[in-house]
Amino acid sequence: MTARILDGTKIRDQIFAELKDEVAVLSSAGIRPGLTAVLVGDNPASQLYVKSKIAACEQLGMASGLLTPPATVSTLDVLALVEDLNRDNNTDGILIQLPLPSQVDAKRVLEAVDPAKDVDGFHPVNLGRLVSGRPGLVACTPAGCMEILRRNKIKIEGANAVVLGRSDIVGKPMALLLMHANATVTICHSKTRDLPDVVRRGDIVVAAMGKAGFVEADWIRPGAAVIDVGTNRVTDAKEAERMFRNFPERLEKFRAKGAALVGDVHPDAIHVAGALTPVPGGVGPMTITMLMSNTVKAARLRRAKSNPRLSQTTAIAR
Ligand code: NAP
Repeated sequence: MTARILDGTKIRDQIFAELKDEVAVLSSAGIRPGLTAVLVGDNPASQLYVKSKIAACEQLGMASGLLTPPATVSTLDVLALVEDLNRDNNTDGILIQLPLPSQVDAKRVLEAVDPAKDVDGFHPVNLGRLVSGRPGLVACTPAGCMEILRRNKIKIEGANAVVLGRSDIVGKPMALLLMHANATVTICHSKTRDLPDVVRRGDIVVAAMGKAGFVEADWIRPGAAVIDVGTNRVTDAKEAERMFRNFPERLEKFRAKGAALVGDVHPDAIHVAGALTPVPGGVGPMTITMLMSNTVKAARLRRAKSNPRLSQTTAIAR
């Protein structure tokens, strides 16, 4: 048995096409959804992430802005920038690129973002809305996992869903989204006993631990849907051999490059699961997609709500 591949890139393309239409409708009514990123310092990985988010805005016809305070900036200075963006009517989404330097109080900064512009879904107000099942802006990675499940018509209602990881940005919101979709959810963490047995009960397994190939193939219930959020860079040859023991082509590629990206689920799970997200190319492309979706949604809710014609023509109600 070989699992059906849940292709995140394909879903990204579908959602981008839908968002492009929605942006065009909003723009024709004088509302151009806009995302502004605050990128502190010069961390190359953060620069790359922000660059790809801005490129996505351009691709969709959205406005984008970038503020780049130096690495030495104070908490108060960043708070002042956030306040300006909260007041700026052209900014629908505010993105604080993490990590922030240690002298900046990240929690205070994230809580200063207007919840209506909190397109990362990190603000306690949006988390509270999620807990109580009210509409709001939901963290992008778990929202993307739900899109993967829904668009692949994987049955969530009544399913046993096992979420590995309980972080604020992935595990917890993921568990809440699955629960609201009527799955029976088990949340696992580093103190969970008999983890393999718990995972074996899952019709849906979402792995978000940050541990390369930790979930072995024989933990997976035959036919289960596996969403692998883990993004781990493997550079150790022995580790790569363990990972790719049945995938000579991937091992060859690793040897040529000296590194490979793997998920939290061992690649052998492809022969047990019914459906599975690949790494790379599964959940990864969905995070940026849902950031764009949240920005359009924020524009629609904040700026278009007084315009009944617009609120009715919006194609997607994610
Ligand atoms: P995190 O904050 O480090 O949380 C990891 C979670 O895994 C914690 O709840 C931890 O339990 C749990 N865990 C660790 N070891 C465990 C074990 N042996 N057994 C059971 N649970 C264990 O990580 P995160 O930010 O949620 O990210 C998780 C992974 O997703 C990372 O690989 C990250 O790179 C990836 N990620 C990918 C995307 C994407 O776009 N594809 C986006 C976000 C994150 P405790 O709470 O007990 O410590």
